[in-house]
Amino acid sequence: MSFLSKLLFKSKAQDIVDDKSGSALIKEDELKRSVDEVLGRSLFVRLVDSGSCNACENELAALSNPYYDLERFGIKFVASPKHADVLMITGCVTRNMLNPLLKTYENIPSPKFVITVGDCPETGGPFKDSYSVCGPVSKYLTVAMHIKGCPPEPEAIILGFLKFMDMIKISHKVSFGS
Ligand code: SF4
Repeated sequence: MSFLSKLLFKSKAQDIVDDKSGSALIKEDELKRSVDEVLGRSLFVRLVDSGSCNACENELAALSNPYYDLERFGIKFVASPKHADVLMITGCVTRNMLNPLLKTYENIPSPKFVITVGDCPETGGPFKDSYSVCGPVSKYLTVAMHIKGCPPEPEAIILGFLKFMDMIKISHKVSFGS
């Protein structure tokens, strides 16, 4: 990432943090350090679209571009649930996607966590209670973190990862041996 991009990213992220909490500073290396300390340098994420409008996926895809470059924090999207630490879910959980979602969760080795992205998986979305929507996700799985928004911007998703790392650092329920 170029120096200019870093400056832009920092100021943009700062705006978002200031808007939401009024005080916290996002430190670019804070997330990387948290991932290093708690998870041994990497956090692998398996994403399941459980029936979204694809806007949340577009924001998630932006995390891999050179501007946000999520992998510099040690956070990587993986294809196999067997390699994942986190199940990340977008969408409202349609009837067709419920079983694939639960099977993906079952195949992630423990300890494992669920993070939702967008308002749909948290609330069931605009078509909740219709014949084809089974959500919200919390009816079926314990959710560690909801990243709110419709859709959340990439900065908000990165902040969500930062809060998630803080949460599991503070929590002493799970030992990662570090
Ligand atoms: S939260 Fe909004 S952007 Fe994301 S899948 Fe639902 S409707 Fe689409």
